[in-house]
Amino acid sequence: MNKLLERLIEKNRYLVQYGQVASYIPKLKSANPEDIGICILDMEGNIYCSGVYNKKFTIQSISKVIALMLALVDNGEEEVFTRVGLESTDEPFNSFYKLDLSLENKPANPMINSGAIVTTSLIRGSYEEKFNKILNTIRKITNNNNIGYNKEVYESEKETGDRNRAIAYLLKNKGLLEGDVEEVLDVYFKQCSIELDLIDLAKIGLFLANGCKTLDGSYQGCNTEIATILIAVMTTCGMYDFSGEFAARVGIPSKSGVSGGILSVVPNKYGIGIYGPALDDHGNSIAGFGILKDLSNELGLNIFKICGRN
Ligand code: GLN
Repeated sequence: MNKLLERLIEKNRYLVQYGQVASYIPKLKSANPEDIGICILDMEGNIYCSGVYNKKFTIQSISKVIALMLALVDNGEEEVFTRVGLESTDEPFNSFYKLDLSLENKPANPMINSGAIVTTSLIRGSYEEKFNKILNTIRKITNNNNIGYNKEVYESEKETGDRNRAIAYLLKNKGLLEGDVEEVLDVYFKQCSIELDLIDLAKIGLFLANGCKTLDGSYQGCNTEIATILIAVMTTCGMYDFSGEFAARVGIPSKSGVSGGILSVVPNKYGIGIYGPALDDHGNSIAGFGILKDLSNELGLNIFKICGRN
């Protein structure tokens, strides 16, 4: 497996020249676009890593999966999905004009910023409790209490977050968001700034692959119905307005973040973490896509794969 991972990194390395690191805040802009890493964890507890896998990075939009899990556990499906939809979108992740059309009464899904700000607001507790719940959940999943958030990234997110601010105020105006807008945004910026490495990310993947249960059974985050919803939403919405093509070509439920991370889940089999800060036009790791496509083909991981009979 390690040889395979090494080979796939080398094969897809050329892609980074066609991508760009996120530039809206200095810390992300300073990432090395050449970095590529991958970690895979299986159900036997084996771990396979290759490339740049021990560098820490911020999870950014990957946090939306955990926020959705907590919102669903705290409120139930009905309450959550009256405020945010379950439909994919062909709009970029930070788009919000549709939300202001009279026909639209909620964000398309919980993986775009507008939907994620709603799910974060739905996590029960004060704004400190909301963030602590997200952080502690990630610590329990990874069994790693050293995970924290990057203050520099958080402060820059807050400073440059006017678009998210506009989204949140519109949500409030439409009655989709309760509580203090700035406080909810603060949780959202902080959750995006949670910092971990690829082994931690692969552990989150394995947790999801195992029905939201850690391998040692020490932590069950939600029931299997919610786990199924999370995997489905990742499949249909996890790669933003590239989710359809990603599903067709890779077929591995995944969630990307603007710092170059991809969280991937092969249900009942593997948790996968990828890092590659050079991004494509949709904001997804460009080499990460190539590697996942090859990995899916070589190991037969596409969940839509048909086993034809001749
Ligand atoms: N902090 C980013 C934002 O909200 C996260 C988005 C992302 O990872 N695509 O704009």
